[in-house]
Amino acid sequence: MESPKKKIAVMTSGGDSPGMNGIVRAVVRMAIHLGCDAYCVYEGYEGLVQGGKYIRQMEWHEVRGWLSEGGTLIGTARCKAFFERAGRLVAAKNMILNGIDALIIAGGDGSLTGADKFRSEWPGLVEELVATGQLTAEQVEPYKHLNIVGIVGSIDNDMSGTDATVGAYSALSRVCEMVDYIEATAYSHSRAFVIEVMGRHCGWLALMSGVATGADFIFIPERPRSDDWQAEMCSTVRRHRKLGKRKTIVIIAEGAIDKEGNKITANEVKDLLADPEGLKLDTRVTTLGHVQRGGTAVAYDRMLSTLQGVEAVKAVLEATPETPTCFIAINENKIVRKNLMEAVRDTKEVANAVMAKDFAKAMDLRDHEFLDQYKSYIMSTNVHLEDGEKVADADKMRIAFINVGAPAGGMNAAIRAGVAYCLSRGHEPIAIHNGFAGLARHHADAPLGAVRSFDWLEVDGWASKGGSEIGTNRELPADSGMEIIANLVEEYRFDALFLIGGFEAFHAVSQLRQARDEFPSLCIPMCILPATISNNVPGTEYSLGSDTCLNELVNYCDKIKQSASATRRRVFVIETQGGKSGYIATLAGLGVGASAVYTPEEGITLDMLAADVNHLKDVFKKDRGQSRAGRLLLVNEKASKVYTAKLIADIIREEANERFESRDSIPGHVQQGGVPSPMDRCRAVRLAIKCIQHIESFGRRAQNKVKHDPYSTVVIGIKGASVVFTPMAELEATDTDWPNRRPISSHWAGLRDIVDILGGRPPYPKPERKLSGVRAKDMKRGLDHMSVE
Ligand code: ADP
Repeated sequence: MESPKKKIAVMTSGGDSPGMNGIVRAVVRMAIHLGCDAYCVYEGYEGLVQGGKYIRQMEWHEVRGWLSEGGTLIGTARCKAFFERAGRLVAAKNMILNGIDALIIAGGDGSLTGADKFRSEWPGLVEELVATGQLTAEQVEPYKHLNIVGIVGSIDNDMSGTDATVGAYSALSRVCEMVDYIEATAYSHSRAFVIEVMGRHCGWLALMSGVATGADFIFIPERPRSDDWQAEMCSTVRRHRKLGKRKTIVIIAEGAIDKEGNKITANEVKDLLADPEGLKLDTRVTTLGHVQRGGTAVAYDRMLSTLQGVEAVKAVLEATPETPTCFIAINENKIVRKNLMEAVRDTKEVANAVMAKDFAKAMDLRDHEFLDQYKSYIMSTNVHLEDGEKVADADKMRIAFINVGAPAGGMNAAIRAGVAYCLSRGHEPIAIHNGFAGLARHHADAPLGAVRSFDWLEVDGWASKGGSEIGTNRELPADSGMEIIANLVEEYRFDALFLIGGFEAFHAVSQLRQARDEFPSLCIPMCILPATISNNVPGTEYSLGSDTCLNELVNYCDKIKQSASATRRRVFVIETQGGKSGYIATLAGLGVGASAVYTPEEGITLDMLAADVNHLKDVFKKDRGQSRAGRLLLVNEKASKVYTAKLIADIIREEANERFESRDSIPGHVQQGGVPSPMDRCRAVRLAIKCIQHIESFGRRAQNKVKHDPYSTVVIGIKGASVVFTPMAELEATDTDWPNRRPISSHWAGLRDIVDILGGRPPYPKPERKLSGVRAKDMKRGLDHMSVE
């Protein structure tokens, strides 16, 4: 006899957060895909206690379009009954009566604490249900162990053990958007604003919005400032004003306290700034409140909720009675399972440590990125031009900043942070305008020239600026003239080069590195911070600008999808950028629930198109108009020379035989984005400072040391769960597909299957393997033949 299908339930609990619907969609569809029945528990623990209609089986089509919806569509509630054992007893009974084998709970630390308690009590609860005759021994037999997995949905990002919770980056986006608006008016009137953001025990939103917007001062619960915070804040603000700043922004977490544990209020801060005896600033208070929870999820949260939902289903299916209960976390770029009990305990410890005024411990218990960002904030904002911790005069370096390639979100933020750090340490940060082309051809142009020192006030306003303020250019040093570049490096006495850019920046450093024998002046440390929407730089799984681009694409797709609601039956074929890397097409496909994604790595064949068109015909035949939104196919601009978005749309139209319509659509340069996303801005700050610190470690005029040190030319990157520097020589030799201008191994390749599974795309004939990567021995040849666009 076939064993009955496993029943997997999902619920959302506690405060709602953007992305919760993405979790539900992923769990429901993945469960069905793996041959299970999917259930939703409505209204959080309340639904579990109430049972009946609150526990409902879900079909595949019922979660269609949920990625683009904010809040949680299956409801959430605060449930008093679940705090009591009696309530949890009823909940256990309802689960068993409904035959639920496993429960996936998405919620904040409260909900997961409840889940942990439920799990530890479970055997006792089941025993009691039998002892009191509510259930029979046979009935409970298959449910001796509670199989639960947690996913953290919370806008506060307050769970230990994970870098991000589902909803945190969406909330951060809202906060930064508001601060950006406020900055404009603050600047106009030369005002000060005190902005209160959410976070009772966790200062993540305040800290990250401080980093992303370059706020003058922040207050977070984990790290109260010095004993006399009043004097410290006023002196920082005064210093910034003296340097010429017209606006003052102070961000305060709602749980901000001083070193004695006393609450610091926004009004108190305002009174200080406005003090007629002191700073005399025209100061206003803005409390952001619930707008922070609102809106749809940003691309990152859609990715996170989807991947964590998928992982949670796998985790419950793999769990044995011996496996410790886990929750799904993300560390840097890696989805991992972690012990739920430990995370709940550590999270409580943070709150306890804050209450006990043990702030060092509170910071320690937060994840690694938190502390790193805190340091970045202090280094990039608390700039001391005169005093501060300077390096010895003999170690002061002239560090040149250059952008190479197309503009990408976060480039300016990276420069701002790098410059601030340099100035604080006593180095001289120097701008090279318009890339290598600018350096080679306009270095002597009056009045400013292409090479000049940065000024702090000038860059301080760049935290949230899109584009590239110092200009950028695709030209490679070999095309500008290697000798000219080498001579200019010597003439300007550059001690190091900090490059921000995409594949061209990578290629440029490769050329400079290889020219070192011929031109000794090039024996200086060079560090690349990858910045390109295509995310195709070897040595990293993330580049600045890619998150901004994904947000733009996801918003664009949402709008396009909705525009179909009048006709109901429409397919859109959307062409994405990305060069020969299918990264953004795939990730955008994940974020909008695309029916198919076409990438250059895989290519497009007629058989594939035929399978997809047949599938669409089938879908529209069965569709009873439950959802009005259109369906989306995403095609990377270089997926095929022949099957363009337009041609694919034409083929579909022809085949649809008027049963449905199709349109092609090209967002083009919209994808580069306007204002960069907070994630790009925050990572820009953190990574840029790390780059300068790396450069700094070589010291000045270290030619001989540099020449033989592979780490003297590096790419900084996020790989798996770590931030790493990888030597250029290693990347060039082992991980660069030169003809296709991308890494040989694409870290995101596994995501394509998930897009297909969750988008309901049936298996299709895979194209013959294209030469998607080149072997190391072919590399040199590839390089020789490489053409530069
Ligand atoms: P969040 O999950 O966003 O932190 P809450 O703290 O309000 O939100 O928790 C949501 C629900 O989880 C509560 O209403 C309650 O039903 C349950 N819960 C929270 N903490 C516990 C606990 N210590 N024991 C049992 N249930 C709890």
